[in-house]
Amino acid sequence: MENGTFRHGVPIAIKQDIYNRDGIDCKLCFNEIKEGDKQVHHIIPVSNQGTDDMNNLILLCRQCHLLVHKEGCEKFYNKFYSYIQEIEYKI
Ligand SMILES: [Zn+2]
Ligand SMILES: [Zn+2]
Repeated sequence: MENGTFRHGVPIAIKQDIYNRDGIDCKLCFNEIKEGDKQVHHIIPVSNQGTDDMNNLILLCRQCHLLVHKEGCEKFYNKFYSYIQEIEYKI
């Protein structure tokens, strides 16, 4: 990161890919997410050299997304990565 400015938004095309891959349920609470509450989370934060790569992104509901950031993304790395690994085998 050259100048400390981080891009927070995920490009809409990538978001769409995540919606297609992850479906309609949150990958933390596994509840169905209402349309306006779908959020794409960086497993490794952009501020930690995380990328907009499909395997660094996961679908969460608004509540879980807030929780993950409140509790700290690191706590959830393993959980989210095991999900990513699982779906990569299926592809
Ligand atoms: Zn959730
Ligand atoms: Zn996030």
